[in-house]
Amino acid sequence: MRPSILRAALGATVLAVALPSSAAAFTPGAAGLGDPFFPEQGNGGYDAQRYDVAIDYRAESQTLRGTVIMTARATQDLSSFNLDLRDFSVGRVLVNGVPAGKVKAGQELTITPRSGLRSGRSFVVWIDYGGKVAPVIDPDGSSEGWIPTTDGAYVVGEPQGTPGWMPVNDTPRDKALYAFAITVPKGKTVIANGRLVGKVTLGSKTTWLWKEDRPMASYLATATNGNFRFWKDIGPGGLPIYNAVDTAFSPEQQAAADAVLAKQGDMIAFFASQFGPYPYTSGGAIVDDAAFVGYALESQTKANYSAVPSEGTVAHEIAHQWFGNSVTLDQWPDIWLNEGFATWAQWRWDEHVGGRPTAQERFDALYARPETSSIWNPPVAGLTTPVDLFASSTYQKGAMTLQALRAKIGEADFTALLRAWFAEGSAETVTTADFIALAERISGEELSPFFDVWLFTGGKPVSW
Ligand SMILES: [Zn+2]
Repeated sequence: MRPSILRAALGATVLAVALPSSAAAFTPGAAGLGDPFFPEQGNGGYDAQRYDVAIDYRAESQTLRGTVIMTARATQDLSSFNLDLRDFSVGRVLVNGVPAGKVKAGQELTITPRSGLRSGRSFVVWIDYGGKVAPVIDPDGSSEGWIPTTDGAYVVGEPQGTPGWMPVNDTPRDKALYAFAITVPKGKTVIANGRLVGKVTLGSKTTWLWKEDRPMASYLATATNGNFRFWKDIGPGGLPIYNAVDTAFSPEQQAAADAVLAKQGDMIAFFASQFGPYPYTSGGAIVDDAAFVGYALESQTKANYSAVPSEGTVAHEIAHQWFGNSVTLDQWPDIWLNEGFATWAQWRWDEHVGGRPTAQERFDALYARPETSSIWNPPVAGLTTPVDLFASSTYQKGAMTLQALRAKIGEADFTALLRAWFAEGSAETVTTADFIALAERISGEELSPFFDVWLFTGGKPVSW
């Protein structure tokens, strides 16, 4: 027999023998993970290890063509699995080099490999895709994802923007390594996460190669691009700090940006002394002229700023590299674990610099606000709608909770608590309940009445 016929015959025999037991065991991975606010976010049945992302962006037509290679490990016997991807057309899909079936519905891309994937085994998925980019509009009305600007794009992903530019397992629970090869017209700059490992110009185009070598949640990915003044500083311990400032800013704005970005090394050193070693192998800032976006984001190792930031905002985004990026929430309603901590750290930076209000003075000034102030509601850890994710209570009352806790358990225990939260919380995603349990363990105090008042009750706390 010819080899192919032999294979077919053998295959038929194996199938006939194996089908009844093993076919039943291979099942589709879940299409979502049931987050209370974004139930379709993320997918079940596998653990992404690494993404290799190649994108060619044509700003004039606001279109991109991309290839993403995801290396993953199956966590169940998979007959099919999903990635999250917004409104792009999908071309070739390969699993372990073999063409696979694909169905695109909403933000779910379902891939059916020719044969099932065994639990525990690694597999490699190749996806070609492309089309016109469109920002993702959030429940609170803000834009995220790949947001076109006059000279490129402002690329931010919290909480659901990354499928707006690449297929991904879009959940904070599945961190992975990322390598980016982003192609733009020659003369433009791309800033992505991690370290710059190369830059290749061919004809009229330049490909920028960036590599994030520490696990990253999908919402922290960036590949912001445009006309930038771009340079590398050296921070504490030789840490490379990459900065990019939009050339469209006035000379005064450029000078203001440079002055505040020059403080990043000191901020990283100070927060490291307070919380534990800086968790990444690079740092930096992207200051884009994109005021219409209206917010900054702590993209891993490269915070995005949509205008020249204040010193407080830079301290806030750097603090997120510990709290949010390294210690990462399990579900979005726990967003105060990111924002309350980064806001408190911003106060703590001012206290450290001196000649500015202390954290307790910031607390006192906010506490003087009337019961009708917007900072008191909704309850910090009792969000019921994604519209409230970035409400002022998440930030201000969240930070006040930490300052009130600092006063209650004392400086030594509070410092030990933050250090332990960072050291222990980085291993897996975390919840508010985890933080309460750790606070009680470190302080030796029963703190549920305190947290009931500050986190789970609306309104202005009276006694705690
Ligand atoms: Zn923040």
